[in-house]
Amino acid sequence: MSEQKTIFGRIIDKEIPAQIVYEDDLCLAFRDINPQAPIHILVIPKKPIPSLADAEDEDQQLLGHLLLVLKKIAAQEGLENGYRTVLNTREDGGQEVDHLHFHLLGKRKMKWPPG
Ligand code: 5GP
Repeated sequence: MSEQKTIFGRIIDKEIPAQIVYEDDLCLAFRDINPQAPIHILVIPKKPIPSLADAEDEDQQLLGHLLLVLKKIAAQEGLENGYRTVLNTREDGGQEVDHLHFHLLGKRKMKWPPG
């Protein structure tokens, strides 16, 4: 493959370590290295989709799967009082890693609007 592997691609391939909290055939979830809340987990597809803007119709089931996994992890982490789910897309969305990822943030009261 000519495209450069992202840091998340390297985490999927276990080339660099991460605190993995969930894994299946389609996705991986691990703790953010720079947490913005007491619980801050990233849920990523194993398929290297750069951003939501690059997702295609064939990714419909995969994207739904990611959200249901996120819900299960939230329950696993004791977030029954609620949580914030964030999907940053490209530059204006504040995306820094070009591998689609959901943020799951919890155990603190979130504000709106976000920064
Ligand atoms: P973005 O700004 O792209 O939506 O979020 C990227 C997130 O990835 C950031 O919250 C950042 O802290 C996290 N991150 C970047 N590099 C690493 C890493 O090597 N390991 C882990 N666990 N998280 C990372």
